[in-house]
Amino acid sequence: MTKGKINVSVENIFPLIKKFLYSDHEIFLRELISNATDATLKLKHLTNIGEAKVDYGNPMIEVKIDKENRKLHIIDQGVGMTAEEVEKYINQVAFSGAEEFLEKYKDSAKDAGIIGHFGLGFYSAFMVAEKVEIITKSYKDEAAVRWICDGSPEFSLEETNEKTDRGTEIILHIAEDSIEFLEESKIRELLLKYNKFMPVPIKFGTKTETLPLPEDAAEDAKPETKEVDNIINNPTPAWTKAPADLKDDDYLNFYRELYPMQFEDPLFHIHLNVDYPFNLTGVLFFPKLANNLNIEKDKIQLYQNQVYVTDEVKGIVPDFLMLLRGVIDSPDIPLNVSRSYLQADGAVKKISSYITKKVGDKMASLINENREDYEQKWNDIKIVIEYGMISEDKFYEKSDKFALYPNVDGKYFLWNEFEEKIKANQTDKDGNLVILYATNEHDQHSYVQAAKDKGYEVLLLDSPIVPHLIQKLETSKGKIQFARVDADHINNLIKKDEPVISKLNDTEKETLKKNVEEGISDTKFTVQLEDLESTDAPFIITQPEFIRRMKDMQATGGGGGMFGMGGFPEMYNLVVNTNSELAGKILKTESSEEKASQIKHALDLAKLSQNLLKGKDLTDFIQRSYKELAK
Ligand code: ADP
Ligand code: MG
Repeated sequence: MTKGKINVSVENIFPLIKKFLYSDHEIFLRELISNATDATLKLKHLTNIGEAKVDYGNPMIEVKIDKENRKLHIIDQGVGMTAEEVEKYINQVAFSGAEEFLEKYKDSAKDAGIIGHFGLGFYSAFMVAEKVEIITKSYKDEAAVRWICDGSPEFSLEETNEKTDRGTEIILHIAEDSIEFLEESKIRELLLKYNKFMPVPIKFGTKTETLPLPEDAAEDAKPETKEVDNIINNPTPAWTKAPADLKDDDYLNFYRELYPMQFEDPLFHIHLNVDYPFNLTGVLFFPKLANNLNIEKDKIQLYQNQVYVTDEVKGIVPDFLMLLRGVIDSPDIPLNVSRSYLQADGAVKKISSYITKKVGDKMASLINENREDYEQKWNDIKIVIEYGMISEDKFYEKSDKFALYPNVDGKYFLWNEFEEKIKANQTDKDGNLVILYATNEHDQHSYVQAAKDKGYEVLLLDSPIVPHLIQKLETSKGKIQFARVDADHINNLIKKDEPVISKLNDTEKETLKKNVEEGISDTKFTVQLEDLESTDAPFIITQPEFIRRMKDMQATGGGGGMFGMGGFPEMYNLVVNTNSELAGKILKTESSEEKASQIKHALDLAKLSQNLLKGKDLTDFIQRSYKELAK
């Protein structure tokens, strides 16, 4: 047996970094600006604690394109590096100076906002550059040095008197296959994507500013203009500030800055701010959602120390909150080297449940502060709340405080209020509370009307996930039963004190049932006889709650494939009101032809009121009705 050590030489690692470490070449700029930011923040920290005796001033980072010479410059005014430090931090691949710094200044620097982590960021420069130069001068009193490397393991390092001011200049000699990174528009796009909220000002070019006219200026005086630095980022975005220091307008402005293409303002915001047991800040916004479950654009963005990482926040943010917008920033979210994939981890679960709790608390306080305003917004936020209620138990447990149930007349109830309202007169024969609801006021109008005529409350539950919500409420609340207004005849749903007297005897009823069954000859319908008030229509179509709900759930993905592709069959009840005048007339009609046409017409009317009369049946019905009119 032979044992040995595999020799991983830099020659082998370089092409690996170049090809595989980062899937996205464009992130080189994010990495270099992160290093420039770290260098600046380190200097800030060292001057703060008195270790660097230099003037910190107002440092900025500059990005400069030299298209002619195919160079891209990233210049900072941070700590810089001595020759020795270049040897240590740059020449040793995968040695992170950022981690070393944090280790060394453990106690004082943990909030300094240092970004670096893996000690690999710098080398991402070779994804786009055929040669990289570093010209750097340390804040310590030492000569500046120049380091050059062409992507092979050979480098050169020498003293230079070219640089007299403190800081580092990185010069990328852009490779032939990457010249897009010499385009102003491309670099601007990247800066705005990754660096828009980084903590050190980033200069990219200049812009013309118009100076205000002096007060005594002549009427035709032209205002003077001057060239000023064009700072591309906002170093202090709202989420980095204390909530107490911000007004509603500040949040609104931040939203507009975050989503310049969104013209509709959000409904409200939630400021996230924890530092124990993990560090997380952020601002979430509720956009107007109505019943839209598929928001793909303008998603929540994840940052780490103000560096944009990704907008794929699945796993960090619970699913139901993915409908929101905004920013979360946490250095404690474990990401892999290329920072775009989440490593599944216990901390992430904690973060997710913290966010859920915060949203619940915010809802409870909003409704307490201004119920009317909250009610007005309900239609646009309910999808998030209802989704949260069915998917997160912790959220559901608190939802009695903030989930609203509107009735068809636009009154809003909390669960307890609604229960109170209906408990005296909306129970079934087993004593369960019957909660009548409509999903569409127009389609179910006649049923809603019938229920209201009897003095019952009808909720309007119209979001696409309502079948799931109802299921959840029924299983957790106990002694309640939801029934859509057209699920059965109202008299069967809710217990009545006085039974209705039958107009027909049993034999007559049997005959009527047979007549109707033969007359409609449609297996979708199950004929049921009911003694209802004589003024009621002869036929009423209902769709049993269970079947309809299953179908609805399938449609929204809840029953997902449970019943195969074909789904549930169409099934309806045809309730025949044996006490109606027309039912009596049908029974007494001698001519079987006449009888059949009465049944057909009555069925069509019933279908019409359920929106079920379509196609040829509808055409025939209209033809028939015209003929009838002409008689
Ligand atoms: P990380 O940032 O994860 O530490 P990098 O590969 O990005 O790793 O950088 C390696 C080290 O090189 C940094 O930690 C830092 O010490 C040094 N360095 C890189 N860029 C600069 C810079 N602009 N100014 C000063 N030091 C720098
Ligand atoms: Mg770095």
